Amino acid sequence: PIILGIESSCDDTSAAIINGNKILSNIAANQTVHQEYGGVVPELASRAHQQNIIPVVEKSFTKANIQQKDISAIGFTRGPGLLGSLLVGTSFAKSLAMSLDVPLIEVNHLQAHILCHFIEDANPMPPKFPFLCLTVSGGHTMIVLVKDYFDMEIIGKTIDDAAGEAFDKIGKIMGLDYPAGPIIDKLAKLGNPDAFTFGKPKLENYDYSFSGIKTSVLYFLQKQLKENPNFIQENVENLCASVQKTIIDVLMKKLEKAAKDYDVKEVAIAGGVSANSGLREAMQNNVEKLGWNVYIPKFEYTTDNAAMIAMVAKLKFERGEFTDLRTSATARYDM
Ligand code: ATP
Ligand code: FE
Repeated sequence: PIILGIESSCDDTSAAIINGNKILSNIAANQTVHQEYGGVVPELASRAHQQNIIPVVEKSFTKANIQQKDISAIGFTRGPGLLGSLLVGTSFAKSLAMSLDVPLIEVNHLQAHILCHFIEDANPMPPKFPFLCLTVSGGHTMIVLVKDYFDMEIIGKTIDDAAGEAFDKIGKIMGLDYPAGPIIDKLAKLGNPDAFTFGKPKLENYDYSFSGIKTSVLYFLQKQLKENPNFIQENVENLCASVQKTIIDVLMKKLEKAAKDYDVKEVAIAGGVSANSGLREAMQNNVEKLGWNVYIPKFEYTTDNAAMIAMVAKLKFERGEFTDLRTSATARYDM
């Protein structure tokens, strides 16, 4: 089947066309209006989606060289995410499905982050079930045991901030632009990861916590700034490298524990933070160190994208799982 996927859960408007498991186009309009506020402003995000959605969808058809009449179904992100943002994609998907008389397929955004690994060019080989997927994004951080495409068990998750949120908030403290994750990644490459140490959380099981690291960085900087007002500028690369190392160490330690306890060697990462070069390297190191088969998504499938939505829609299409046209967006949506 040829399927159109639509993603609008946060601040990226995206549309993609998939044919089988092959992505023919994956178009995104990134919103820059949020930068001056240091975070996503829901009302502005919703308005920008309204402006972007038609050109983005049109471009996805043109790039794929596909006509509207050729598609078999439309997949859309029903949740979780910002309601005002989700509503734009959901309403658009519903109207287009009605006018083209094709079935509608709802997609869970988090399942989509994980299932991006089944896109044809995501990996040389897709992961084998059961696999573990460290799902790390702006809103979520969790270790998921993926037993089958739609049989997922969350075995650990963050009790406060998400890892991406930690990158962004710590970056904000340091005066970096939003989103700070990719900026920290870039600057970290020029710094010494052992220059500074920050307190790490001590938590049972496979749960995470990141707000303590943020506070630890905040207090450390406040103290340093009293003695040297230029401390951040003078040490920004070492700070970024040290912060990144701390977050990755925390992420990997629990993931390694889970892999050992569950006796799983198929290990994947997904979500926006899986774009992080330090995390990707740490995963790669475990191929030799722990004998893992690792699955690291291509960059374009890490942060929000409609390719992953189209992929899940295709899997549901094969199962005959369609959504009633009376559906509505939902800010919360359990996997
Ligand atoms: P969710 O998927 O939980 O609803 P979201 O969709 O907003 O949240 P994503 O788009 O998956 O999140 O990821 C965005 C997050 O990824 C941001 O916090 C951003 O800083 C972070 N991020 C992106 N690239 C990198 C990178 N190279 N290093 C670290 N963090 C990164
Ligand atoms: Fe996301």
